[in-house]
Amino acid sequence: MDPLHDDGTSDALRAVFDAAGPYLSSLASRPVYAGSARVRELGGALPADGAGASSVASQLLSVGLESATHSAGPRFFHFVTGGVTPAALAADWTVSLLDQNAFSRAASEFATAMETTALDWLRSLFGLPPSFGGALVGSATFANFTALGAATHWWAARHGVDVAASGLAGLPRMPVFSGGYVHASARKALQLLGHGRDSVSVHGSGRVDLSSLDRALASSGPAVVIANAGEVNAGDFDPLASLASVVERHDAWLHVDGAFGLFAALSPRTAHLVAGVERADSIACDGHKWLNVPYESGFAFLRDPARLGAAFGMPGAPYLPGADSPRGGYGQLGPESSRRARSLPIWATLAAYGRSGYRAMVERHLDLAQELAGLVDAAPDLERLADVPLCIVCFRVRPPGVPPAELDDLNRRVGEALLDDGRVFAGTTVYDGKVALRPAIVNWRTTSRDLELFVSVVRELAAKASRGPRR
Ligand SMILES: *Cc1c(COP(=O)(O)O)cnc(C)c1O
Repeated sequence: MDPLHDDGTSDALRAVFDAAGPYLSSLASRPVYAGSARVRELGGALPADGAGASSVASQLLSVGLESATHSAGPRFFHFVTGGVTPAALAADWTVSLLDQNAFSRAASEFATAMETTALDWLRSLFGLPPSFGGALVGSATFANFTALGAATHWWAARHGVDVAASGLAGLPRMPVFSGGYVHASARKALQLLGHGRDSVSVHGSGRVDLSSLDRALASSGPAVVIANAGEVNAGDFDPLASLASVVERHDAWLHVDGAFGLFAALSPRTAHLVAGVERADSIACDGHKWLNVPYESGFAFLRDPARLGAAFGMPGAPYLPGADSPRGGYGQLGPESSRRARSLPIWATLAAYGRSGYRAMVERHLDLAQELAGLVDAAPDLERLADVPLCIVCFRVRPPGVPPAELDDLNRRVGEALLDDGRVFAGTTVYDGKVALRPAIVNWRTTSRDLELFVSVVRELAAKASRGPRR
């Protein structure tokens, strides 16, 4: 069927709308995951003639509503995964409705202006000085990439090279330093930028070792330091202010990976954890985690945002507006060119809930994390492994009588059993040499009841696993 002859628009959109309400209400009680066998129905060969929008929308909803991982619901504690606020959802639908290209003002004055406002509101939400500016990107991985790309451009300029034009060939290796918390995605960004993921020299096993870093920077020449604000196993932070002082003594660039941890700035209870972040040269953060906007959403802030154009501007193809053109825009300030208007859900959720709404949500999550820590501490078969500075509770199953040598295996099996069971989701990690669970609480829908269910499911599956066969 030629889309020109498809009259199914209203039916298709109405089908989505009709499904949305009941689906969203069901999230409070449905399991996180109940299998996706039916997804096969949507496979097979490419249809020769299509079925039209209306029929296809119903088919997709029928399978998708059952088969999806319901990670927008309140009991998905795996990774660090937010949901979607009502305002963000409505705005995200609007993004697709309007199908703007947020590449340039020439392509969409509207999307460009909305991106400027969204970035300014985010900057203000986190209490960053007005000089900070940035770009919206698809994720914190891309925010790390964007920030470290700008850092690379700065570093090469120190060696007299415009890396955007000439590349890395002929330059020495870029020195990159971090502490033990450096995230895999920062390494991936370095890998993509041609430095190699092993270019990071790690000082310290947890928080960065400042005196060791200080010594290394004294002899490294221009260097890049990656600080970690919110580590993924337990939510710990590098000491940003002292780190900034060390970096400022040397000729170095300070990048902060604050994918979710930057949200500590929203509450006076946790703002001390990110004190000093305003001294960073660049900051990476996620929207699709604690901001609770849909995928794909991240943002990079630069203290000197003009560096983005230098690092990411494209050589002017005659038909494109250049980086300096009044018809240019954010496509010249980050890795992507054509891009969706991901500013709209960010703008909408901040407009709908404001500074106080986000502070309330973050503080509720801080309370819930302490509540979960309390439930873990009170359970004789669970053992908490770390302090809870933010929104992650790192603990393991430790039933009385199970020999210590078997605990890693038991916790791995409990982790697998949780994902198979599907009522609640959490992932395992290795913390301090021990296999552990690390539920993260960043979804606006989560309540105390969800945590009680989480703990009771973990204990139930742990009891089963410790009775069951050992590998
Ligand atoms: C989640 C996370 C990332 C990567 O984020 P994506 O959005 O998955 O790309 C980077 N750093 C930290 C600290 C994170 O928690």
